Amino acid sequence: MRRPFVAGNWKMNMTRQSSVELAEAIAAGLSSDIDVAVCPPSVYLDAVSKSLAGSQVGIGAQNIYHEASGAFTGEISAEMILDLGCRYVILGHSERRNVLSESNADVNQKLKTALAAGLVPIVCLGELLEQREAGETLQVIQEQFDGSFEAITAEQMRSCVIAYEPVWAIGTGKVATPDQAEEVHADIRRIMTERFDSETADAVRIQYGGSVKPDNATELMSQPNIDGALVGGASLKADSFLAIISASQQTQTT
Ligand code: PEP
Repeated sequence: MRRPFVAGNWKMNMTRQSSVELAEAIAAGLSSDIDVAVCPPSVYLDAVSKSLAGSQVGIGAQNIYHEASGAFTGEISAEMILDLGCRYVILGHSERRNVLSESNADVNQKLKTALAAGLVPIVCLGELLEQREAGETLQVIQEQFDGSFEAITAEQMRSCVIAYEPVWAIGTGKVATPDQAEEVHADIRRIMTERFDSETADAVRIQYGGSVKPDNATELMSQPNIDGALVGGASLKADSFLAIISASQQTQTT
């Protein structure tokens, strides 16, 4: 059985103080034993990491660069985020793909670097609205999967988490229906079975992301192939993030 995993992507929000307060409120309010992480802006990783020391809440970065060190102004390496206490890193978020022009090949390089460093990558896949309307969703997901996971072994794949995040649902309030999400999640598992084997496909957790809120989390998390959530807006408030975590925990026990 896959252990649910809920992660909060704080994007480019918060201040140092509000980051620490939010992290502390989440740690204090947590009563579930599923996996939980927060991904603050990189400049606040250190402060959040210190405030979460000894808690059950893991920490992730929102990005890394694929090189280990050197003349790469503004970039952050895998070792640097490990040094700050990170266990996770989000890779290929749609904002990085679509706003910052990150390609599948870029994601693949970063993925290999993250895995070599011992980080748990959360690799995001998701189609644009026009691609969904043109009936291209599954093809887009297959292409993103093939490019992002190129030359990754089954063993490495089992160390990864995938987040299916339809771009049209991110930050828009337009959530995918449970059936729409489940269809893509099941297809990602089919892709992993064909590329690797059914044990690998069964082991990898696939989060759903895109306007997950306390009032839609239970239905989404009840789908057989949805193993948690990557949460943007609703992770910026402890109450809503904790409510999503408890919805994910309950679907595991019902
Ligand atoms: C995200 O940033 O990954 C996300 C899913 O955002 P939101 O929950 O705000 O749609």
